[in-house]
Amino acid sequence: MSIPVLTAVAWPYANGPRHIGHVSGFGVPSDVFSRYQRMVGNRVLMVSGTDEHGTPIQVQADAEGTTPRELVDRYSRVIQDDLVGLGLSYDLFTRTSTDNHHRVTQDLFTALWHNGYVRTEKTLGAISPSTGRTLPDRYIEGTCPICGYPSARGDQCDNCGNQLDPADLINPRSRINGETPQFVETEHLLFDLPAFSKSLASWLDTRTHWRPNVLNFSRRLAEDLKPRAISRDLDWGVRIPLDGWQDAPMKRFYVWFDAVIGYLSASVEWAQRTGDPDAWKQWWCDPESQAYYFMGKDNITFHSVMWPAILLGHNGEGDRGGEVGSFGRLNLPTEVVSSEFLTMSGSKFSTSRGTVIYVGDFLREFGPDALRYFISVAGPENQDTDFTWDEFVRRTNFELANEWGNLVNRSVSLAAKNVGAVPEPTAPDPADEALLAQSRAAFETVGAHLARSRFKQAIGEAMRVVGEANAYLSHQEPWKRKDDPARRDTILHTALQVVQDANTLLTPFLPHAAQKVHEALGGTGVWAEQPHREDAGTSGELGTSHSVLTGDYASEQARWESTPIPVGRPLARPTPLFAKLDPSLGETGPSWAPIQTGE
Ligand SMILES: [Zn+2]
Repeated sequence: MSIPVLTAVAWPYANGPRHIGHVSGFGVPSDVFSRYQRMVGNRVLMVSGTDEHGTPIQVQADAEGTTPRELVDRYSRVIQDDLVGLGLSYDLFTRTSTDNHHRVTQDLFTALWHNGYVRTEKTLGAISPSTGRTLPDRYIEGTCPICGYPSARGDQCDNCGNQLDPADLINPRSRINGETPQFVETEHLLFDLPAFSKSLASWLDTRTHWRPNVLNFSRRLAEDLKPRAISRDLDWGVRIPLDGWQDAPMKRFYVWFDAVIGYLSASVEWAQRTGDPDAWKQWWCDPESQAYYFMGKDNITFHSVMWPAILLGHNGEGDRGGEVGSFGRLNLPTEVVSSEFLTMSGSKFSTSRGTVIYVGDFLREFGPDALRYFISVAGPENQDTDFTWDEFVRRTNFELANEWGNLVNRSVSLAAKNVGAVPEPTAPDPADEALLAQSRAAFETVGAHLARSRFKQAIGEAMRVVGEANAYLSHQEPWKRKDDPARRDTILHTALQVVQDANTLLTPFLPHAAQKVHEALGGTGVWAEQPHREDAGTSGELGTSHSVLTGDYASEQARWESTPIPVGRPLARPTPLFAKLDPSLGETGPSWAPIQTGE
């Protein structure tokens, strides 16, 4: 049965290029999952985009002497290039600066407002006197009133560890331009999160299949909820559709609020682009549909608590009740799939410390599948994991090239040289049947792991089939069977069938290599589809000119099953699937990210 599966992928913030730690959290896992779901025949909608509002964008644009619009135009394009290069199969990757996103955000807010889950409150807030914009706590520093540390931040003192209020700092100053912040009374919107404590807790009680760290963390958050601001004094973001606020020059939604609504707005935009404006409802309103959210662990809060609370408020399902909003009753996440951090020398990737590996640099030198493989087999699925060039070289050379690349190469080469086509098998012996049974059985075991987002176990099982096939060839030695061509051909046919099965099992992880193996086995047409960039134009309701990532994944041939390889199909000698890396790379790193040595 075909199920609608929403793959909701965390939105990269458009303030710079992404590093490999980012795509190990939200990117590769969500794509492996989506490709598998499509192969089993489910109707996948994979959406995301660049997150383009908020103070950090404004601050960085000021620092670079440009406008927020110019900044996000530039970085959304850089990020799109990286994600296309990695082969992430988005149905729609869009932007939060579109008219459509602004309208969906306002409509969802209107439902929360109407149901009484948002109130206004006058607070004392810091603003920059020169710009009139909110000066967020972490952009204010001063002397700690408790310990006297001169560089305490507005939200906490790094010396004594106490939580602070920026109004308490002695000699407060802006970290952006050094001016003294002004503390003024300003009106803000507060989202009544405590009104969802009960409904969130009972919903989380039904999520027993989540990764335990995500579930336990979310339960603790839901026990201690406080009202949360959803507005800022800022002139870059989504306008607030209330009298007196709509036209205010310095009132916008807080970026966290509009960013999580992107999952819905991107789905709505996707539907508009297909010509069936209600098509998004299959993934959001059908009770049979499933929704999986992928992110790094620093974003769990927004996906397991904030976004579900917004959905419950829109549905009228918090303590205050209410009516179902204009989108109809919206589904909560089926699962929040969070990764831990990919680190380098034990620390998070950091541009300022020089420990950063950008996706674009990586793809230019090594191509996408080596990185996809590394993240899948050795990434931070369940614990923080250190990236080392040494391990990357070892995995690429000994697993991808020696194990998988070599199996494809020698199976196809031998058949091409001796027969010129897929050979015909005669009487199979027990060793042939045992190997074929193993590769057929792997579809169920690997598939069960993928359906549960257990990527390491899944790729481990798929690579086990590869290992068994290599052992089989070494033992059967078809290259020594010149005097018994019937037996030789049976062995080669068996090997080619297992190559085809293993290629199918590895397709979600290695879609670019999978296309090459498909062609090496004599196949034609698109086995695994790749995303591309499209100009989304200025037409219709979208209003803005912007480009998106999308793809025609329905036309790809890959299906999650063992299909018999056609006897007699012509074969040519293949080109090597994976280039081996120079082992010295493991000691030095590449020239653009050299390993830091010394004290
Ligand atoms: Zn202190």
